[in-house]
Amino acid sequence: MLRAVTLFRRGLFRPSPGLSVRMTSSEITPKGILANQVAVVTGSTDGIGFAIARRLAQDGAHVVVSSRKQQNVDWAVATLQGEGLSVTGTVCHVAKAEDRERLVAKALEHGGGIDILVCNAGVNPLVGSTLGASEQVWDKILSVNVKAPALLLRQLLPHMENRGAVILVSSTAAYTPRVDLGAYNVSKTALLGLTRTLALELAPKDIRVNCLVPGVIETNFSKVLHKNETFWNNYKENYQLQRIGRPEDCAGLVSFLCSPDASYITGENIAVAGLSSRL
Ligand code: NAP
Repeated sequence: MLRAVTLFRRGLFRPSPGLSVRMTSSEITPKGILANQVAVVTGSTDGIGFAIARRLAQDGAHVVVSSRKQQNVDWAVATLQGEGLSVTGTVCHVAKAEDRERLVAKALEHGGGIDILVCNAGVNPLVGSTLGASEQVWDKILSVNVKAPALLLRQLLPHMENRGAVILVSSTAAYTPRVDLGAYNVSKTALLGLTRTLALELAPKDIRVNCLVPGVIETNFSKVLHKNETFWNNYKENYQLQRIGRPEDCAGLVSFLCSPDASYITGENIAVAGLSSRL
């Protein structure tokens, strides 16, 4: 059976009667570049994560959405299912081990393993300097932004069947730190290191790890920047931008990085920022 699942996921298997729900339901009909894949996306009830969840589902994956608040999960699942997409969801605060377990269990309910993990959830509880951050602020930022992706992947790994794609979500603040985003800058730079280290560690299992690096994208999270006229005018002038980024601008890249077209790409960090701010 395990072999059948593996062959199926590699597109080499034609199901026969009596196999699992996942393999016999109408969902198995290939209908996109990510058909037959199961994807877990954290922080996916709003903003960039929601756009990624929608795009992965549009490209054929079954997507498990999640975030801290049940009402947000319910809304996201209902919205995407209303668009005819294959989506389920559960509450998961990524810094809580029991929530991560629940997320893994929910993904496994679809019948089989897990192919894609997108670690999008991130926080910045302080607009201020690095040295202005209390120990509590440091703990929160590092545990949600940096530790949680590694710990969730550790929990998911036994179910990834020696293949898959992982996406971490950093920020251009990792390349060019902003003075008012002290500890957040540091956490996002750490994710670049985490991407490369995990890519190396998981290469023998044929699991690729890449990093999305957004610039300023119009979401609730970035309001403090893009609603600030002075900031935004300077930003436009410096980068010659014609518009602010949209969550959907990030989603296509993530889908590509998870697809077979990216099968020889790992350990990369790629900016979606209007203009790359790295050398
Ligand atoms: P957003 O619009 O505020 O959405 C955040 C999502 O994450 C929501 O679904 C929220 O739902 C969930 N969430 C928050 N804390 C969570 C936690 N501890 N565990 C699980 N889910 C959590 O944010 P966004 O702008 O899309 O940002 C997404 C990612 O992109 C973050 O990692 C951020 O650092 C990065 N980023 C954003 C920008 C930008 O300009 N927007 C730029 C660079 C990088 P609940 O409230 O229900 O938990």
